Amino acid sequence: MKELKLLMTEEKNTYLQAKFDYYRKFNVWVVLCACISSVGYFVSDCQLFGRFAWETLFPRTFILIPMIFYIIANRATNNYRVLALITQVIMHMIMWCTICSIYYLPDKTHASEGFIIMHLLYMASAFASPLLLVTISHWLILFDILVSNLFNHYANLDIMLSLGIPCLIGITLVNCALSNVFYDNYTIRKKLEASLVIDPLTTTYNRNILNKIVREGKFIFDRSGNISVLMIDIDFFKNVNDKFGHSNGDIVLKSIANTIQSCVRGNDYVLRWGGEEFVVLMPACSKSEAVGVAERIRTKIAGTDNTICPVTVSVGVAGYNGIDYQASIRHADKALYVAKQTGRNKVVSYSKGATTDVLCANGLNYSN
Ligand code: GH3
Ligand code: MG
Ligand code: MG
Repeated sequence: MKELKLLMTEEKNTYLQAKFDYYRKFNVWVVLCACISSVGYFVSDCQLFGRFAWETLFPRTFILIPMIFYIIANRATNNYRVLALITQVIMHMIMWCTICSIYYLPDKTHASEGFIIMHLLYMASAFASPLLLVTISHWLILFDILVSNLFNHYANLDIMLSLGIPCLIGITLVNCALSNVFYDNYTIRKKLEASLVIDPLTTTYNRNILNKIVREGKFIFDRSGNISVLMIDIDFFKNVNDKFGHSNGDIVLKSIANTIQSCVRGNDYVLRWGGEEFVVLMPACSKSEAVGVAERIRTKIAGTDNTICPVTVSVGVAGYNGIDYQASIRHADKALYVAKQTGRNKVVSYSKGATTDVLCANGLNYSN
């Protein structure tokens, strides 16, 4: 049971919420149809009585109250725990409304048919909800039947159980298979989504990640807006390819990407911006802190043995104005250009519309 194994992992809630979201509309239809069909069995009560069955009118129609509560809850929250629990409570309420109606019926032999219909409703309610919850909830039906037998005295309890238990086992197995199918789809979808935003060579993000972290031209991953941007380009990388070949160039590229990732925090975004250019987006990071990180990256790359040849990088640093993410990338690019023009292997930061050298590889400071 893949879903049950998943219960031990951190991803559990994301998975169960995704499953609920996927089947949410279906679940609404299941609850509405289950409640309305339960009310509809009032017609068969009238047939059994041979008159208007006023005795079962209340137990049959009572279920409309929790149904309305479910509709309100469904509008008020998206939380799968709340909605799945309400769904299963409603399933048991339908069961107990049926049991109470059976109490008044002159002929109780049709109860077993009613309970088989309940099994099918439980199966339909299992799509959206956690497997463990629906399994426990469904098996409780036996408890409902045995307790209600104390006052309903079913003439055919043995048949009811011999028909119901295989149904219960079968539906539990079907639910396990269904949840495995959904789990497989979920993992494939996750991998596809990841492959859209991850660069396979360096395992950093690619530009597609911007679709997730930019809205209306603004970064949306940090509400404070105190974001800094680094633009990193490898120095003389063409020479590396020319001398050592493209595949060795790739090894250098991977090593540099690893070094950059090791120098930033978990909530920073490292993007492969182009061939051998990287952009780092750093939330909650002032420009001066970003310059420190950039300098750390630069010195670490210069001192790392990538097994092919020594390489250096140039870095442009810029702040984000909270309005236009493209401007911050442009400014970092401009600072990078100055770093390249003034000797490479250095960090240059952009400020107040001018590019100003902050740190150089040889320790010199100068303005551009
Ligand atoms: P500069 O210091 O001015 O940046 O010099 P450069 O030689 O690094 O020039 P540029 O930044 O224009 O270099 C781009 C080179 O990067 C060209 C291309 O061969 C190489 N490159 C781009 N993508 C890849 C890749 O995926 N693998 C390898 N091995 N090389 C790549
Ligand atoms: Mg380069
Ligand atoms: Mg380049």
